[in-house]
Amino acid sequence: MKWSISVGRLFGIQLRIHLTFFLLLAFIFASVFAQHGLNAAIMSALFICAIFACVIIHEVGHSLIARRFGKEPKSITLLPIGGMVEVEEMPRKPAQEIAIALVGPFINLVIAGILYLLTGPDVKVGLPTLYPDSGAAFIGQLIGINIMLAAFNLLPAFPMDGGRVLRGLLAMKLNYVRATKLAAGFGQTIAAFFVFFGLFNNWWLAIIGIFLYLGAGAESRQVVLQSLLAEVGAGEAMTTEYISLRPGDSLAAAIEHFHHGCQQDFPVIGDSGVVGILTRDRILASIHTKGLDARVDEVMDKNFAVVEANMGLDQVYRILRSGNKTAVVVMDGGRLKGIISMDGISRYFMVKAALKGTDVAG
Ligand SMILES: [Zn+2]
Repeated sequence: MKWSISVGRLFGIQLRIHLTFFLLLAFIFASVFAQHGLNAAIMSALFICAIFACVIIHEVGHSLIARRFGKEPKSITLLPIGGMVEVEEMPRKPAQEIAIALVGPFINLVIAGILYLLTGPDVKVGLPTLYPDSGAAFIGQLIGINIMLAAFNLLPAFPMDGGRVLRGLLAMKLNYVRATKLAAGFGQTIAAFFVFFGLFNNWWLAIIGIFLYLGAGAESRQVVLQSLLAEVGAGEAMTTEYISLRPGDSLAAAIEHFHHGCQQDFPVIGDSGVVGILTRDRILASIHTKGLDARVDEVMDKNFAVVEANMGLDQVYRILRSGNKTAVVVMDGGRLKGIISMDGISRYFMVKAALKGTDVAG
């Protein structure tokens, strides 16, 4: 995620903190300091850090369960509005998704329980104030906030944890796309309520509402796209009429094709078969650094991805996205059959939608 810094690894998962989090911390420190002095300001900053430590443990819980189900978590990012786990792909088995979602709020309740047991029944569990004025108030409020975190995250507002549970439950009866659309629609309704209610009472809630609204829409579109892609084979969507280059061609020759045709990515074919892909980005970046006389094999991407013609387009899309590639080559029985690019995929669906007379984004 942009504007975030890596602060190390937890259980092998990269932990990142968004820079706006430090802004929040500085803002709260400064405003408490101005009104109540240094001790209060330090106390409130420590309290914010303690809350966010609980948020990180919550996210680690999600991540470790996801890993158990074979979905490797890539990173955890701490934002001022909460934590976020980036997983390669969420499992599509409803029971697994529900388990991953429930473990987060469960962990907050466990933290509250442990703090309560450690401090004994005299501790005053309370709602957070601007700053806790004693060690006992600190623990009491931390227990309170963990209970609140559990309850808030369980609201059925997709993509929050409760919303994921809802999607999982719906997906037991309906197909995954339908379940996601319903959960996302419901989540956006709740998010709109957060924004409306928050504007008059708590601007923090309004900001969370906006993020939830956008998040629900984005994830819903992603699921629809993935399911559309899964129905198509790579061989069906590949471009078979393309110009290829030779390793010894000059960059000038490549630019000639790039300039006068509409192809953006060129397979480079040597004596033994495909040896690389020359992408638009590489052509443009090399004009100045290498010059027009540079050979194609000096500039091409030798680390290109190969897919089989019978592979699902959803897998191809994942390879393109995760490898930051603009094109892959399609092989069938060791022979080059075609190329697939991001542009090609969207062109394919544009034509398909036009033929059907339906809207791809649905
Ligand atoms: Zn969660």
